[in-house]
Amino acid sequence: MVRTFFLKNLCISIVWCVALECVLGCCGGITTATAEEIKTDPVVQDSKKNEPASVAKQSSSVKSPTSTASTSESSFEKLIKDTKRIEGLLPLYRKEDKLYIEVPNRLLEKEFFVSISIAQGIGDRSLLGGMSWGDGDDWVWAFRKRADKLQVVRKNVRFFAKSGSPEANAVANAFTDSILFSVPILAKTPAGGVLFDPEKIFFTDLPKISKQLSGFSFAKDRTNWASTKGFEDNVELRVAATYSSTGKSVLETVPDSRAATLTVHYSISLLPQNNYRPRLTDARVGYFVTALKNFSEHTGEERFVRYINRWHLEKADPKAEISPPKKPIVFWIERTVPYKYRQAIRDGISAWNDAYRKAGFDSAIEVRQQPDKTDWDPEDINFNTFRWITSGRGFAMGPSRVNPRTGQILDADIIFDADFVKHWRNEFETFTPGNIELLTGGHVNQHANTKGYGHVASCGCGQCGVYSGHAFQTALGMTALAATTSPVISEKEREKLIQQGLKLVAMHEVGHTLGLRHNFKGSSIASLKQINSAKTRDRRPATTSVMDYVPVNIVPKGEFQGPYYPSQLGAYDFWAIDYGYRPIGGNSPESEKAALRKIASRSGESVLAFATDEDTMPGDPDPLSNRYDLGDDPIAFAQQRSKVVQELIPQLIERFTADDAGYERVRQAFGVLLSA
Ligand SMILES: [Zn+2]
Ligand SMILES: [Zn+2]
Repeated sequence: MVRTFFLKNLCISIVWCVALECVLGCCGGITTATAEEIKTDPVVQDSKKNEPASVAKQSSSVKSPTSTASTSESSFEKLIKDTKRIEGLLPLYRKEDKLYIEVPNRLLEKEFFVSISIAQGIGDRSLLGGMSWGDGDDWVWAFRKRADKLQVVRKNVRFFAKSGSPEANAVANAFTDSILFSVPILAKTPAGGVLFDPEKIFFTDLPKISKQLSGFSFAKDRTNWASTKGFEDNVELRVAATYSSTGKSVLETVPDSRAATLTVHYSISLLPQNNYRPRLTDARVGYFVTALKNFSEHTGEERFVRYINRWHLEKADPKAEISPPKKPIVFWIERTVPYKYRQAIRDGISAWNDAYRKAGFDSAIEVRQQPDKTDWDPEDINFNTFRWITSGRGFAMGPSRVNPRTGQILDADIIFDADFVKHWRNEFETFTPGNIELLTGGHVNQHANTKGYGHVASCGCGQCGVYSGHAFQTALGMTALAATTSPVISEKEREKLIQQGLKLVAMHEVGHTLGLRHNFKGSSIASLKQINSAKTRDRRPATTSVMDYVPVNIVPKGEFQGPYYPSQLGAYDFWAIDYGYRPIGGNSPESEKAALRKIASRSGESVLAFATDEDTMPGDPDPLSNRYDLGDDPIAFAQQRSKVVQELIPQLIERFTADDAGYERVRQAFGVLLSA
């Protein structure tokens, strides 16, 4: 009956994710730019825009100018004849289904940031519309000219040494870039750039989707451009990509398994060149990390340099104690979010402003509502979005895109599955051997449970809040309310429970996109009595961190019912934001060390306790670091849950049957209680 002892197994997909981070972070490491490279380039400014400016800047498509300089048509003019030129970072030439891309001379060898998303999915595996893609390891590309070919080079960004030093030569000898493509240069442009056919690059299995679709392969003859947009700072390309099979591999969500078409979105921008200063990590505060291997480091125990992932926030007025940022972090609530949930989500996002204010920033986060008519794509790197999807999976995720050289977060697109708020869960209804194992805490094959959540491999970095456990908590709360209160009260209370839960999950997922990792110690500080104290004066919040997985708080009959879910950030969250974002004087990451150590040294305070995914694996010894546990005494929580369940079970048949209904609800409710 007691859920705590096998909860750890339920979150294997997350653990898996963390293991991946380990692969990227501990073993490989990711490099940072040398000081020379960080210099601001007058042409290349920070491409991150938090405003829909790029929409305003979207260039109108104009007919290509015909040359007056030469009498005979050059190959360039021939190729672009009758095409529409779409202005932007990389000018595009489009005629019906044909597209050419120009790389201006000044952008050859420059570093581009390429982020991939699934814009329209197939509703299966992790191929869901809205999913950020790319192994948690976003791509840095450069276009390189070699004789009559244009190479697309994926840069090796993981190793570095001080530029100009002997070690830099050694690094250059030891590590290599990956040349992904070498395509013919079709023409030189009058301005000295080059023109190429992007089909050779993008009409391939570039995102390695076939890895997730065994039996399927990329079908170029059934692939086309879905949309091609140009902006001053970025280019947005969408490919309607078809994968085909002989029909032997079955995909239940597509009408015919011989072909599945999904839309892959590529957002291409320049790697930002700005005055962003990376911040060093401290193991006492839970941030996602960008790890670099510095071969100029000879004295330390190891060569890794670890930076936290965070946004580039600068005070508009550096002298003011509290100042608005020069550029706030803007989140757009996507137009797909149902009206009745928008407020809770808005509140959950802006809750973080309290923590930023303590760290010196006023209104660091701005929440905007996406109007029903807009022509920007949520996958555009310039827009942070909160998206509502219908994959039937009941989960939420807060991935972000990070400059692999500095840890600067560039983009975040949170997805929220509609089933998340569904009251009735079917997964506990059928008692298959697998489910019985789950219910009884028996043997659980770690891999079996990752079914359907393979996407953790694609978003990576441990930042995926595959938060399906929350849907179960909602179901438990709903069952309890339906069984114990009158139908009228119950309806009102159920809505309250959903709204409180939504706000919490919004806070949690946004926390990930600000750089924060899980803290499973959060809900272990206050006692159940304090959480449910009738006197507000004595009541304590259920968690010190919204980065925990907090279960629904339901009390047995006759006891005072505290909030179902915490509604504010906790002390740990404030502290973590302070560590990551408080502006600190100095001129290098190392110069911040003393000030950072001072902040981190508070970690001994009980409300700042921190333990994350790798501390919360099956068999880990700390009984207070758990997913979906509540209170400072795990035994007391188990007893409380048992009591609640025992009170509810006898009422199930009475409450969950109606004249015109069958027994499904009873069965579902029973399953939910059995696994509580
Ligand atoms: Zn975005
Ligand atoms: Zn999470």
